[in-house]
Amino acid sequence: MSPFEYAPAPESRAIVDIASSYGLFINGEFINGAGTAYKTINPATEEVLSEIAEGSSADIDLAVKAARRAYAKVWSKMPAAERGKYLYRIARIMQERAREFAVLETLNNGKPIRESRDIDVPLAAAHFFYHAGWADKLEHAGLGSAPKPHGVVGQIIPWNFPLLMLSWKVAPALATGNTVVLKPAETTPLTALLFADVCRQAGLPPGVVNIVTGAGATGAALVSHPDVNKIAFTGSTKVGKAIAREIVGTKKSVTLELGGKGANIVFDDAPMDETIEGIVNGIFFNQGHVCCAGSRLLIQENVHEEVLERLRHRMSQLRVGDPMDKNTDVGAINSAAQLGRITELATAGDNEGAQRWSTPCDLPTKGFWYAPTIFTGVTQAHRIAREEIFGPVLSVLTFRTPAEAIEKANNTPYGLSAGVWTDKGSRLLWTAARLRAGVVWGNTFNRFDPTSPFGGYKESGWGREGGRHGLAAYLKQGEQA
Ligand code: ADP
Repeated sequence: MSPFEYAPAPESRAIVDIASSYGLFINGEFINGAGTAYKTINPATEEVLSEIAEGSSADIDLAVKAARRAYAKVWSKMPAAERGKYLYRIARIMQERAREFAVLETLNNGKPIRESRDIDVPLAAAHFFYHAGWADKLEHAGLGSAPKPHGVVGQIIPWNFPLLMLSWKVAPALATGNTVVLKPAETTPLTALLFADVCRQAGLPPGVVNIVTGAGATGAALVSHPDVNKIAFTGSTKVGKAIAREIVGTKKSVTLELGGKGANIVFDDAPMDETIEGIVNGIFFNQGHVCCAGSRLLIQENVHEEVLERLRHRMSQLRVGDPMDKNTDVGAINSAAQLGRITELATAGDNEGAQRWSTPCDLPTKGFWYAPTIFTGVTQAHRIAREEIFGPVLSVLTFRTPAEAIEKANNTPYGLSAGVWTDKGSRLLWTAARLRAGVVWGNTFNRFDPTSPFGGYKESGWGREGGRHGLAAYLKQGEQA
């Protein structure tokens, strides 16, 4: 029993106005899709929130045509400083409507309102502000004296950070002068549809941003459309590989942000209080639905017991439940399918001999839930040490020497992120230089900033998003131009 209980602190949902059904946002208007509508739900309650259009390949064709027209007639002719003004306008409107976005994101995704309010939405607006500044300075980005946009960009995003992933994609594409057809993930379309309304409010010329909802087949139609010049995808390694196979031999450019199995390395001199917070943030932030999650904890053997004891204590205090409660730390799993995947892999952990410990908590009876869980006694051969779980499940391994930590951390087909916890700057830099991961955090974890490039090594993907490197992916350079 904790020394005191928290009274419920529910966020009101009155600010959002969810329509009973939505069409596709093409050429500045919502139109009926040709496919069959499907229901989108609140994963914390299983309540149906709205009916969503499923974009067919004919709808994708309409959207690509609208994007091509807008590119040729308006967007590519507009002075860059004017493009920048639209991005600033969108960023400001996102800030003004921040609460609406946060509530809607939490309702449709299941993430705690504290996170959507304090992280997802402010960061999404920050991406538009950052890229607004670049729009008229591209010739100073070190990417050639007159870098050119690709033209029409197809963008496919996942359900874990619906609005934030949209902004990672749309902001750099528009700043560099491309027009966009974006497909949100099937389970989380609502904030993308609210963003369509923001585009209208900002007076963005019709066709510059088109949003076509639907599932894998809609995404596949976008990838294979002959008049799309570049594909930007964030999602699973499996689908990323299929996309790479589909576009090989075409003139399309591609960036892929795929899976991860990030190592979070704790040396024996690590500042312990901060480290425990960093481990918790690394794996339980957003229910572990994070491609760069610190899902493999590597602890130096002589502090193993101490770290685990403190970690269990801290995990016992996590509040799991209603995502709309401002005190909630861990919300709902996004879908029944994802809960099934998490459960299957965790069961494999049991069967392969690892020891399970979970936060003691009562889970709601409706909706999709998984208690924060750690597995100890994990070896490198276990599936839970090798495969991405994408849920609130941490696999704990140990090491004795820095060289062994590096060896284990890099022993993965992925290479998206890693963390290093130590009191010594020299050890931190020595370790970071040897980790094969696109992002290495030192004495922190899961920190994001629009100025900082993000992306993977190996099966975690191709290309970078964010910062100057991210602009390069949306511009033709050298012989491409
Ligand atoms: P997850 O397994 O986490 O749902 P996916 O890679 O399946 O990740 O989904 C990420 C995004 O890719 C979603 O928007 C989804 O609809 C889309 N998608 C799924 N299959 C395909 C495909 N074959 N081609 C293009 N997009 C796809």
